[in-house]
Amino acid sequence: MRSSPGLAIAFGSLAVALAGLITLEAVHRREARAALEGRLRRAVDVLAPYASALLTEGSEQADAEIRRWATASGLRVTLIGADGRVHADSWTLPSLLPRLENHLQRPEVVAARTGEVGVDRRRSTTTDRPTTYVARVLGPADHPQGFLRLAQEEAPHGWPWGSIFLAALVSATAGVLAESLAGRRHDATARHLAGWSELPPGADLEAIAYEADRRFRATREELTSELEATRAALERVAEGVVLLDREGVVRFANPAAAQLLGSAPTAGRPLLEAVRAPELLAAVRETLERGGISHTSIVVEAGVELAVRVCGLEHPNLAVGVVLRDVGDERRLERARRALVADLAHELRTPLTVLSGLTEELAEIGTCGEVAATLSRQIAKLRVFAEELEELARIEAGQVRLHVEAVDALSIARQVTDELRNRAEGAGVTVAVEGTPVLVRTDPVRLAQVLSNLVDNGIRYNRPGGHVTVRTAATEGGVRIEVQDDGIGIPPSEIGLVFQRFYRVRRQAEGEGGSGLGLAIVKHLVRALGGTVTLTSREGEGSLVTLFFPASGPAA
Ligand code: ADP
Repeated sequence: MRSSPGLAIAFGSLAVALAGLITLEAVHRREARAALEGRLRRAVDVLAPYASALLTEGSEQADAEIRRWATASGLRVTLIGADGRVHADSWTLPSLLPRLENHLQRPEVVAARTGEVGVDRRRSTTTDRPTTYVARVLGPADHPQGFLRLAQEEAPHGWPWGSIFLAALVSATAGVLAESLAGRRHDATARHLAGWSELPPGADLEAIAYEADRRFRATREELTSELEATRAALERVAEGVVLLDREGVVRFANPAAAQLLGSAPTAGRPLLEAVRAPELLAAVRETLERGGISHTSIVVEAGVELAVRVCGLEHPNLAVGVVLRDVGDERRLERARRALVADLAHELRTPLTVLSGLTEELAEIGTCGEVAATLSRQIAKLRVFAEELEELARIEAGQVRLHVEAVDALSIARQVTDELRNRAEGAGVTVAVEGTPVLVRTDPVRLAQVLSNLVDNGIRYNRPGGHVTVRTAATEGGVRIEVQDDGIGIPPSEIGLVFQRFYRVRRQAEGEGGSGLGLAIVKHLVRALGGTVTLTSREGEGSLVTLFFPASGPAA
């Protein structure tokens, strides 16, 4: 059950109010007593000079006089002889005066004998009420003629019930208000903590808070240990990882990042304090603005080339992640491979020329006609292979010179199919071109080379009676060219591999295939022309290669 502070507040405020009331009452009584004493003192001073004369008069006259004083002042007036016997008393009949006990020892009278005004406060034996007595000596203090004593009962004081009732009412209202406020606060707080506690919302707030605190701590510990594990893992990877917030300020950088960059990006400082590479900073700026992923490469001071991947992050505190990888070794390997391929292609030339000369001589002599023909076919094939190798090496090395102009893709497609028509007819395959003239800025020779390769494949990997169709169409922002055939198709597991150099699909039915370089050349040429190439295929049904070239042409 939840605690109810209303009751405590009601009782507390009632207690405070009662304490206040009692204090006020006490002050009030003290003041009333002081006022009464003052009044009695003044009265005794006024009456004392007249009282001395009364002592010498007979009891009857004195009695009459002090009763007159008593009526006029509302006080009890007592005239006491020097021996302590009561000479006259406004509250006692003269006949009863001898019965009154001697007043010489009354405290106020004892005090008055010193010459001062004697004061005493006690319960009156006559009325049993608290009474203030004031006495004064009559005549000289060392030979007193007697004493004048005045007395008055204190006004009866009842409890201030009205104020007590009001205090109780105010306390009860405060209690109710406090209870309702506390209830509202309880509900609001319990609602906020609901996700962290399984206790019902009406449960004691402290219990809910305790439960929430326990779970929160457990979750924090879990998260902290996960974070530390992630940190430890990131600190061990060879790739440099830098995490930035929305302002481009470094939030995390692993040791590999510092090592690769040659300067340590410091957490809490902007990245550009540690990194000067404009390509990296531009990629970060771009990702901060637009999100997404961008790739670039930078060369750091030691001449090391780093591949940089910058990606946008969906995180409340982090906006960008930068991954740095040393690609120096990969680049060196790639360069060595290209050099090897180029050298190989080059080295093949001379023996091939010699071999083809010898084959021609053999043919001319007329001996071994069969052998000479086979040799000639194989040499031609080897020559094509060497040429393709050289071509691929050139394209990959970026040594292809493009002569870009605005050309009609449809007429290039026609030109290519016309050139291959004989070959197609020989294979029993029909080639056709569909579409409308579409202008594109490209290198016509290279585009024809790409299409020729694709149409050639469509014919080669087909069956008699098959078709190869080239379609051109203008699309948003560029030109789409499709080369479709209804030939033998490619197994699904190999579709992703056919663009790799030297990759050939091994088929039993396939006779003498190509070099496995055609599609690799297509891929690199299309990329050089600023376009894209995709291939879809179904085994036994045919293949579709789709090219897209932006109307603006390859980037300068
Ligand atoms: P190749 O010179 O051997 O034709 P490519 O790089 O042009 O080399 O093609 C790679 C492989 O992809 C080929 O071995 C062939 O099996 C397959 N291929 C390419 N185009 C087609 C197609 N239109 N239909 C079926 N298979 C194809």
